[in-house]
Amino acid sequence: MTETRIAYTKPSIEDTEVSYATDAARNGWGAQCYSYLHRFETEFAAYLGVKHAIATSSCTGAMHMGLAGLGIGTGDEVILADTNWIATVSPVVHLGARPVFVDIDPRSWCIDPVRAEAAITPRTKAIIATHLYGNLADMDTLRAIAERHGVAVIEDAAEALGAVYHGQKAASMGHFGTFSFHGTKTLTTGEGGMFVTNDTSLFETVSTLSNHGRAASQSKQFWADMVGFKYKMSNIQAALGCAQLERINDLVSRKRDILDTYRTALCDIPGVTTNPVQENCDGGAWMPTIVFDTGLGITRTHFQNAFAAANIDARVFFYPLSAQPMFEDARHNTHAWSIPERAFNLPSYHDMSANDLARVIEVVRKLCA
Ligand SMILES: *Cc1c(COP(=O)(O)O)cnc(C)c1O
Repeated sequence: MTETRIAYTKPSIEDTEVSYATDAARNGWGAQCYSYLHRFETEFAAYLGVKHAIATSSCTGAMHMGLAGLGIGTGDEVILADTNWIATVSPVVHLGARPVFVDIDPRSWCIDPVRAEAAITPRTKAIIATHLYGNLADMDTLRAIAERHGVAVIEDAAEALGAVYHGQKAASMGHFGTFSFHGTKTLTTGEGGMFVTNDTSLFETVSTLSNHGRAASQSKQFWADMVGFKYKMSNIQAALGCAQLERINDLVSRKRDILDTYRTALCDIPGVTTNPVQENCDGGAWMPTIVFDTGLGITRTHFQNAFAAANIDARVFFYPLSAQPMFEDARHNTHAWSIPERAFNLPSYHDMSANDLARVIEVVRKLCA
């Protein structure tokens, strides 16, 4: 193998990130122990246009606390798309609730609202809309359904930082929203996440939960008001987050440019498409994804072999959650079950060179030739 390996994602770290993290490591103690953390929460909420934000150690932790804050537990049902990262469903299971997997809408790759509504029962407490790969779930319809049935609608925006739906940023439209700042995400703190909401009472509950169950109003030391969680972000991670947030428009627009480059270079091939283009939406383009029509006969094996031979790290589309051993098969979710057979994530890290992009494009063109 002569050419260097092309990673599928990796963070872009500049001097500001290094200098803020260094400052936090040297000085962020004692009276300064939360200075970057509180700044990150405040600036993130302002960027998103929401009232409240709580930085967490992961998106999974933010989801766990948000669901717990809504009182979701044993015997309840939570509806979500079958196409999802495992992290969206694990907190549902940990709380003793039952996940109900419905199919995706092939026009967005996000939860199909018609199927979500059809899955509502008297036990349903919430619908989770994951904005898959930076595409946007149909929030207007989902919100109307949720209101009609008295259930919550939650946004997992881990993959959709910067995405805009009908003028509103992803995660600002549901009862609460969550983000991930894992090293593969558009903005990174290494590991980390964010819980966001406009609901002040939910915010207060989740703040208490996230502080070992100690309410902010509690003046007694070492006194817990309820059994809580420990999913806090560290001040050092928040320092990285503050620096990345200063560059957020650049980080998001680079993602969009990379997706556009692939789209322009590949979509003239008959039977090849990329992330759906959605009306009145500006996707986050977290993960440029290519889909081959069944007629092209390009399988997962063909694809993976071609990219391995070119020393490029491309990834498979999410398998349906219902295909995994912990859950019952839901093969009636035909889109969720069929798209992963012929859809793949292409590399998209911030500092990719034009030559890197050209190498990826050439592998796809050769596969289709
Ligand atoms: C990355 C991701 C998560 C999990 O994020 P962590 O910070 O690793 O917990 C959850 N949901 C989706 C859709 C993701 O892509």
